[in-house]
Amino acid sequence: MRHRRKTKILATLGPASSSPERIRALFEAGADVFRINMSHTSHAGLAELRGHVRALEQATGRSAGVLVDLQGPKIRLGTLPGGSRVLKEGERIRLVRRVEGTDDGAIPIPHAEVFAAMKQRHALLIDDGRVRLRLFGVKDDSAEAFVEVGGEIKDRKGINLPDTLLPVPAMTQKDRSDLDAALNLGVDWVALSFVQRPEDVAELKKIVAGRAGVMAKIEKPKALASLPEILELADALMVARGDLGVELPPEDVPGKQKYIVSTARRAGKPVVVATQMLESMVASSTPTRAEVSDVANAIFESADAVMLSAETATGVYAVEAVAVMDRIAAAVEADPLYQRTIDAQRTPPEATTPDAISAAVHEVTRTIHARAIVCWTSSGSTALRAARERPEAPIVVLTPNLQTARRMAIVWGLYCIHTEDAHDLDDVVDRASEFAAREGFAAPGERVVITAGIPLGTPGATNMLRVAFVK
Ligand code: PEP
Repeated sequence: MRHRRKTKILATLGPASSSPERIRALFEAGADVFRINMSHTSHAGLAELRGHVRALEQATGRSAGVLVDLQGPKIRLGTLPGGSRVLKEGERIRLVRRVEGTDDGAIPIPHAEVFAAMKQRHALLIDDGRVRLRLFGVKDDSAEAFVEVGGEIKDRKGINLPDTLLPVPAMTQKDRSDLDAALNLGVDWVALSFVQRPEDVAELKKIVAGRAGVMAKIEKPKALASLPEILELADALMVARGDLGVELPPEDVPGKQKYIVSTARRAGKPVVVATQMLESMVASSTPTRAEVSDVANAIFESADAVMLSAETATGVYAVEAVAVMDRIAAAVEADPLYQRTIDAQRTPPEATTPDAISAAVHEVTRTIHARAIVCWTSSGSTALRAARERPEAPIVVLTPNLQTARRMAIVWGLYCIHTEDAHDLDDVVDRASEFAAREGFAAPGERVVITAGIPLGTPGATNMLRVAFVK
């Protein structure tokens, strides 16, 4: 069974969804891409989860994407005596450069670079901003702080320093080793956390060397300042609202989400909206009305994909959460205002042959009421440019390259099918007609619009448009 919605769903795998049966249930409920978060997954776990997704593809005959999310240079507390401590508002505390806390009550932070970069009056946030400290008296290996917002802190909770530019490399030793493991296994996307500069993405791209798509997670104010340059290098973006909403006032996040989505959309690169989309479903079988509106809003913005994190990784209602997202997407996409909103956001084609052809494909499809657009693509570039147009008709992607089918699973509107290589253009046309009928997109006698790059197999050479009757 293939879902007909255009917006794609990413489901994060975790303890609640690590068995082959649960992953299959998520897939059948509508998950298109599975995210493996290396903050919580060992190399053995990664191999196992990836293996389950690949086995699922074999069993169902449908491709699915695997996205590996690298932890990045996340700053964390050390360990505390007894594992936790309550900080009271107005309390004055000491921070020390140490891995383990001792009975002197000082809070351990095992990062020399943090002490080197922090300045007087900078904020230090703990546990997604639940606890806020204001710094003073910063030295090389200690600092004083006032507790502005108190609460309980626990071992190894995350730290954010929104005022501090951290001179940390884009990838830690752990990230390099996780990346190596992922690339050796073969995955479809690699996401990099806490990107600060375009150079961070360039470094990852150099190592990945085309073996996976590279996604930049936008969660630092610093990254927003050079978003066009980051996007130029990345293959996709993620609006990582969890950390973004800690580093920025939460009320600034919706505007930044619109900026990130529209910037990626103009460039025709996939963009994912992530975090807390159906958060209450971690423990509840139904979402809140506000959560439904939030998911719907991302879909109206024409984001390529919406993502579930804890909802599917640790939640009690993982499969239900995917099913709810599927239903929201289907309802929004059927709303009469949806296509009008999408059309109003349309960005003109770039002055290239592939974009001119893609715009013409869109126009011809609409004018003759063709039932589907069929892209023949080996690298995926023809399909990406077709998706950039956000046409009303479904886009069927035929590719002889299995990795392309998997990678394109994240892209709005694409129904990817892996097929053997075509002999020539007539073979492409025959195959387009056959698959459009077989997958139920068009009936015999109805028309499809076919686009490809000729000669076949030349990446980025989209230059052909043909109208064909389905036999
Ligand atoms: C986020 O911060 O929103 C995010 C997706 O990253 P992570 O889940 O790794 O914190």
